Amino acid sequence: MAADVPQLDDPRLDEIVDLYSVMAARLSDGFEDMVDEEDPSKKFLLYTAVLALLLLLFQRSEEWAQTNVALYLRQADERATRSLSAIRPGTVFDPGLNRTAFRTITKDTVGHFFKARNLLEQYLGRVFRSLGLEQDFAFFANQIRSGDPTATPDQLNRKLKKKLVRDFRAAPVTVIGKNGKPFSYPLPYYAAMVAHNAKFQVQSLTAINRALEVGHDLVQISPQPSLHGDWCDAYRGKVFSISGATPGFATLDQLPNNGAPFHPWCRHTMQIYDPTGKGREELQEAGSVDSRFLLSQSNDFNAMVRAWWASRR
Ligand SMILES: [Zn+2]
Repeated sequence: MAADVPQLDDPRLDEIVDLYSVMAARLSDGFEDMVDEEDPSKKFLLYTAVLALLLLLFQRSEEWAQTNVALYLRQADERATRSLSAIRPGTVFDPGLNRTAFRTITKDTVGHFFKARNLLEQYLGRVFRSLGLEQDFAFFANQIRSGDPTATPDQLNRKLKKKLVRDFRAAPVTVIGKNGKPFSYPLPYYAAMVAHNAKFQVQSLTAINRALEVGHDLVQISPQPSLHGDWCDAYRGKVFSISGATPGFATLDQLPNNGAPFHPWCRHTMQIYDPTGKGREELQEAGSVDSRFLLSQSNDFNAMVRAWWASRR
């Protein structure tokens, strides 16, 4: 159903994609009925029913976030403490250390779901009010009218309704990206993106927190290549210093987003790096990152991205 959602390979991510696929179909059916209904009181009932569906979807999303951020955190925490125990045998870790990380990422994730709900609710309200006021379609109709100046009001009306339903079905969540441009997403795609990001953020934040707890300074960006040869490949497998106190390594704040995940759908994470027993050359190689790809006052994110693509040519 959600054909354009990237392969996630995680049943918990599939779960939220399935939920959004099913609910997106129900929402757009309800929306279509609301748009088509001529009787104002019935239209109002249909409008309320769609709002109720939206509320239900948000509640389920919130439950998903609560349950799964906790689970991802537990897995990531086990991995980080295992790595650190290997480096410093006998370390006793504070079991409650990552509570704040859990709260932060859960809140953040729920916030993204809430944003989608809000946007949809506003959109529904606008459509409901515009179509309820019979002749006043000004909000939506201009684009239709300008494309077809000879059409009768009735034809325009039908065309407009069709367009509204189509738009709602295709990509109802529009958010403004980092570059200031709007991106519109189908619901399952948006949900998958939010959930994926939560999962990867948890992994990195948990590793950093554990490293800080025991005074371990080095973390490594996971080594796999990005799917589309994206700029985050500039950092894959490289090692960074959390504090800036280890000579020969750049710091995390020189990286976009302060480290992995670097961007939506990024599959890079940060892991504990163990320098013990590594030769000087190996360490040098692990710490060497082209300065064009490190952020600074004179090298901002856009300059870095440009430099990356220039280096690919
Ligand atoms: Zn990436």
